[in-house]
Amino acid sequence: MSSTTTDYKVSFDSFKNVINNELVTTANTRHSVNPSTEEALWEVPVSTQEDVDKAVSAAKAAFPAWSKLSQDERAEYLSKLADAIEAHKDEFAVLVGKETGKPPQTAGFEMFLVMGLARETLKLRLKEEKKIDDADRTAIVRYVPMGVGVGIVPWNFPLTLGVGKVFPALLAGNTFIWKPSPFSPYSALKLTELAIKILPPGVLQALSGTEDLGPLLTAHPDVAKISFTGSIATGKKVVAACAGTLKRVTLELGGNDAAVVCDDVDIDSVAARIAFLTFIHNGQICMAIKRIYVHESIYDKFLAAVVAVTKTFKFGDYTDAEAFAGPVQNRMQFDKLQKFYAQIGTEGWKTALGGEPGPKEGKGFFMPPTIIDNPPEASSIVQDEPFGPIVPLLKWSDEEDVIRRVNAAKVGLGASVWSKDVPRAQRIVEQLQAGSIWVNTHFELAPNVPFGGHKESGLGMEWGEVGLQGWCNPQAYWIKHSA
Ligand code: NAD
Repeated sequence: MSSTTTDYKVSFDSFKNVINNELVTTANTRHSVNPSTEEALWEVPVSTQEDVDKAVSAAKAAFPAWSKLSQDERAEYLSKLADAIEAHKDEFAVLVGKETGKPPQTAGFEMFLVMGLARETLKLRLKEEKKIDDADRTAIVRYVPMGVGVGIVPWNFPLTLGVGKVFPALLAGNTFIWKPSPFSPYSALKLTELAIKILPPGVLQALSGTEDLGPLLTAHPDVAKISFTGSIATGKKVVAACAGTLKRVTLELGGNDAAVVCDDVDIDSVAARIAFLTFIHNGQICMAIKRIYVHESIYDKFLAAVVAVTKTFKFGDYTDAEAFAGPVQNRMQFDKLQKFYAQIGTEGWKTALGGEPGPKEGKGFFMPPTIIDNPPEASSIVQDEPFGPIVPLLKWSDEEDVIRRVNAAKVGLGASVWSKDVPRAQRIVEQLQAGSIWVNTHFELAPNVPFGGHKESGLGMEWGEVGLQGWCNPQAYWIKHSA
């Protein structure tokens, strides 16, 4: 633990697995592409069952010593890791830009979230609760680490969502294997490489691979817990795979967040904030606003204001310092979005901005920001999560009715209500079924506040004390004094 930030020098142009504090290549390699240019990025390992077995066995071997350290001792190690990330913050921002397509402003926002999570998580502690303490006996509820944890992460916020698992898992006393998305493996491998000089072998490892790698980890009998962030369809597969060994599972899945706008809002300022919270990172955020319900008495003015603000957003590539958002992250997502855009013609949706793009021209997975004007409630743009820059505005007039429409979704990640009359907004929002509810804001997060989804949006929560406890088994601890 005597390292200084000068020991943390790593090069940002080669990427390997990290197994037992060694950089490891594989017989086969692959690469992902820069979403702005479609150019190939660096080669990365394609991990096999053998690599998984090696990493799990190193993680298992490291667990007894790591879990015996105090929380303060583990926090001290992890604070060095946070220092090392901070020392390379600018290089990570460029790397995240290259692998996700985020322009510098959004990549900088990701690094802000990463550093917040790394630093603030280390201030949390698992606490014991004395439930009984009398002359006869003492009963304590405490939280003990599980063993080998695995984090499976998507491509939209590859570092934030990984760091939001790594730091609590390790602080709680588990060891950890990070499996990034094949679409964005680079920042995870590099961050884990930094840890080689800081953490004992086997404590933090990273494996990259194809879509076949996740199932090897969820099936492994020596993995105690899977923390998964990604789509609902894959989340269901993860639960099914974990059932065989009864692994603990946390799921952070997709959403279809609604914003309910009341008739008394300041139209220009609320429309600007809602436009921002809809199109930030091109709508490729689980908690971006995906349905905007506007009171019918202000609908036309509000729609015009959202359109006017959205027109001012600059879309550009990962080098464009002025750009607000970049391209869609990958070909798979780009193709999935085409199907939503195609329904503008086939379903006759009215567009207030954007529309069906013509044949793709030039490089990069760019899609036009598009606002659909009051489509039928049953249409797929209202019912499904596009995860891209296309959003519907809908009219409402009756409070009960809008609550019913928001809650009709099978998902429940986040929901917000916007009104100058805060008690009224609270009355509405408290009836919405979602893991996060907000008044006069949306996508508001903090490292010490848990987040997660209700209904099909997830299982359990991450971040904050609740998230830290999620990396532990609760344990009832009895002491009989008469002995
Ligand atoms: P995805 O489900 O396709 O992939 C997520 C991860 O799972 C990747 O690392 C992938 O390689 C891995 N994976 C794929 N098949 C697997 C399997 N059978 N077993 C184990 N792992 C497997 O999701 P995506 O397209 O990368 O991400 C987009 C989705 O993620 C959206 O629906 C979005 O809403 C959701 N998301 C949710 C949150 C949240 O916190 N709730 C955050 C970000 C994204």
